[in-house]
Amino acid sequence: MDPGRSPDPPKRPLGGIRAGSVAGIPITLDYSWFVIFFLVLGTFAGAVFPAHAPDLGRTTHLLMGLAGAILFWVSLLLHELAHAFAARARGVGVEGITLFIFGGMARTTREATRPADEFFIAVVGPLASLALAVVGYGIGIGGPGLGIPESVTVVAEYLGFLNLLLAVFNLFPGFPLDGGRILRAGLWQVTGSLRRATRLAALSGRFLGWAIIGLGIWSLLVGGGVIGGLWLIFIGWFLTHAARSSYQQLLLQQLFNPLVASDAMSPDPETVSPDLPLPELVLEHFLRRPYNSFPVTEDGVIVGLVTLGHVKRLERKDWAGKVTGDVMTPLRDLALVAPETPMAEVLEIMREDGSRRVLVAREWELLGILSTSDIARWLERVTLVEETQDA
Ligand SMILES: [Zn+2]
Repeated sequence: MDPGRSPDPPKRPLGGIRAGSVAGIPITLDYSWFVIFFLVLGTFAGAVFPAHAPDLGRTTHLLMGLAGAILFWVSLLLHELAHAFAARARGVGVEGITLFIFGGMARTTREATRPADEFFIAVVGPLASLALAVVGYGIGIGGPGLGIPESVTVVAEYLGFLNLLLAVFNLFPGFPLDGGRILRAGLWQVTGSLRRATRLAALSGRFLGWAIIGLGIWSLLVGGGVIGGLWLIFIGWFLTHAARSSYQQLLLQQLFNPLVASDAMSPDPETVSPDLPLPELVLEHFLRRPYNSFPVTEDGVIVGLVTLGHVKRLERKDWAGKVTGDVMTPLRDLALVAPETPMAEVLEIMREDGSRRVLVAREWELLGILSTSDIARWLERVTLVEETQDA
């Protein structure tokens, strides 16, 4: 692992498969996408198009369903690409686009820095969907007069309808929907605080989510629409959850961003040499000092890390003849970070690696060690400060 990582906090992508890229933006299909793709295909070919164009045969309905399902996902992709290009144009990095069970999501490397940018990035998505709705309805309504076959015009018109629906739904003012982002941009502009704006917009997102769940329950019990009701409950639940977690994520980012690895590390840790015999390592270091791990260095350069766990794995009789270098985790398997690495990124690295310690180094020269207990103590301090600020 190289100590000089990018300054942007990494975000864990959802599980899924790479489905190519557009203008350097990787497109991922989440596993849930496959289920929904076939559900959409089945609904289109089996119910929607037979109802809209009953005179066409089953094979035609199936082909229309296939074309419709693919174009539906292309529509979603274009909506997300609009967000992604707008973000890029305003200097916000784009990690990629994921298509999943509820549609699409463009992942950016950070938040916009100005309300106007946030507004622009949010509003282009629904605008793209509206434009697609106009095209769809245009072909659907004008097509028959131009001799375009019914199989094409029916699909176009229905996609126009879905894109209109998509634009309208996304404009609902609940974060993290686009409308909620527009609301947040407005509140941000008025209050001057991204955090307060996010808190209010996320609250609105949770209310909206609960309202949709309520509508779903009503539809389930009174309206008689079981599938539609369950679907609404599902969407509402997702929205309340997303609103909550995106606010927490922002809090964490804001909390961590100004703080770097050297703020939380224990500086100048005691080190041991790789030639140190194991019995001596145990008796002179682990038993006499209050540490569970020691960085292993040779001429001031890191070569590994030895922990109490390494020693415990060996029987006492096997200690003889062994040196620290035989049991330590070698450098290539260690997480090293630069002192200026943001804490958000350090936590992400530890989570990915499953490691309980990272070494803070510059050019392989050891500067400090960051263990889970260092981080726990530091988080406690941060939370205390945060609570007093929030009051
Ligand atoms: Zn959107």
